[in-house]
Amino acid sequence: MVDGLFVEEDAKLIKKILLSQHVAEDTLYWPYSTSGTYSCKSRYRFIKEEEELQLNSQTPPICHKKVWKEVWQMQAPPKIKNFLWRACHNVLPTKQALMRRKILEDPICERCKMAVEDSLHAVWSCLELDIVWADQEKWGFRCEIEFTCVRELLSWMIEEGKSLELLAFMAWTVWNQRNKVRLNLQAYLLYQVAEETAELLAQYRASTKASDMLVRSHEIGGNRWRALQVGFVKVNSDGAAYKVEEIEVLAARKALSFAHELRFQNVILKGDVLGVILALK
Ligand SMILES: [Zn+2]
Repeated sequence: MVDGLFVEEDAKLIKKILLSQHVAEDTLYWPYSTSGTYSCKSRYRFIKEEEELQLNSQTPPICHKKVWKEVWQMQAPPKIKNFLWRACHNVLPTKQALMRRKILEDPICERCKMAVEDSLHAVWSCLELDIVWADQEKWGFRCEIEFTCVRELLSWMIEEGKSLELLAFMAWTVWNQRNKVRLNLQAYLLYQVAEETAELLAQYRASTKASDMLVRSHEIGGNRWRALQVGFVKVNSDGAAYKVEEIEVLAARKALSFAHELRFQNVILKGDVLGVILALK
């Protein structure tokens, strides 16, 4: 069963786990707290430790405040910002990271089978990704400059006045493609990544523009906060992802079913994607 469900190397590791002599229920265990229970505090501590480990191995130090600011200010869904931030701190579950945590024994990249897979290698420098970053006008510097980590790459791009959005979307797609391939799921082929990403970025920008127009039309119309009529409640819904409309519809549905659960009879729904609000009307 283990062989059927997991890739060979994971199955090998799983089979090495000693089983209890007694019949016992399986439990979830978070290894970064003494009690084994997950908490935000222990996750924060774990990420900080990883960050320090990474910083200590870097010379010269990179101005990370600036990178931090640019990443959080860029026009991208939160999950992509979050992904880039994790790549910057080298805390993506790459083969190198999994080996450091003693989950895998082999840190070599499965695409090229030539180098250790850290965050930079996984999304940027692997030779197999040449086809992804082939647009010389945009990414010509990839062959000219050797970076040591994702943060150094971002820092250089910021210094050069280059936008981070496209890089963030591309790296995110590459990372997801890698995960899908590992899990034998249907995935883009590498030569399709650049084109598909450009389309996704365009879709995201179009949805953001529609939301901005809605906000502006509210501002122009002097639509300020007003106290609700007695007996009404307002539910706010919001979602963030590539397919913004889809997520916004799900968020709206969740908000309405929550209001229903609380037995509110008169509800005003507030969302920020024009198309979704109009469709619900
Ligand atoms: Zn590789």
